[in-house]
Amino acid sequence: MTLGNTGENELMALFGGTFDPIHYGHLRPVEQLACEIQLEKVILLPNNVPPHRPQPEASSAQRLKMAQLAVEGNPLFSVDSRELQRDTPSYTIETLETLRKERGTEQPLAFIIGQDSLLTLYKWYRWESLLDVCHLVVLARPGYARELDTPALQRWYDAHITEDAGQLRQRPQGCIYQANTPLLDISATEIRQRRHEGRDCSDLLPFSVERYIESQGLYREHFTS
Ligand code: ATP
Repeated sequence: MTLGNTGENELMALFGGTFDPIHYGHLRPVEQLACEIQLEKVILLPNNVPPHRPQPEASSAQRLKMAQLAVEGNPLFSVDSRELQRDTPSYTIETLETLRKERGTEQPLAFIIGQDSLLTLYKWYRWESLLDVCHLVVLARPGYARELDTPALQRWYDAHITEDAGQLRQRPQGCIYQANTPLLDISATEIRQRRHEGRDCSDLLPFSVERYIESQGLYREHFTS
């Protein structure tokens, strides 16, 4: 698909996460990124967590609902529930391969991750294949180093990094781009913790999500005797 008469391709981005719950640390940097690289569309992909990892506190349905509420009325975002519809853990590469097939070979696709995810990317199933189907766009995150301490990951990164955001729409896949988005020191862990301690977290996530959390009794206060 082309954009008006610019002759450039429309860039679509995907943003996976546990979203337990979704928060401004997810939303704000991606909104800024959309301005930075002229992104038209971002698809949120709430994912399943493998059984051997700590499970989300909210159910799949609740995490999906929170993602939907967070972006309601915001034309940049949509939510895709495909990973939650499977019983099996989410393998990002498999979802991206499916999306690549659906969108065709010419559509530029970018997968967005935070710096913390980049640092451990070498642990992901078939991580080196990610750039065969999409670009990777990395959001800086407070507390996570820019340096990669894994040689194989560093070599792969060096071979694909670009500072030219135009590459992300000129090519369908294959580049890594470090976004210049603002740092937001927010995590879902902090939100769950604040709630467990009975503290306010209205500054960390949209009101609609906070109201839903309240109505569902999620991340309840832990009383100590
Ligand atoms: P938790 O604290 O439960 O581990 P989280 O806040 O890291 O959760 P996830 O749903 O695991 O949120 O993250 C989804 C994606 O968003 C990941 O790629 C993560 O790196 C990125 N991300 C989350 N919070 C931020 C943030 N504040 N800044 C930049 N990227 C972020």
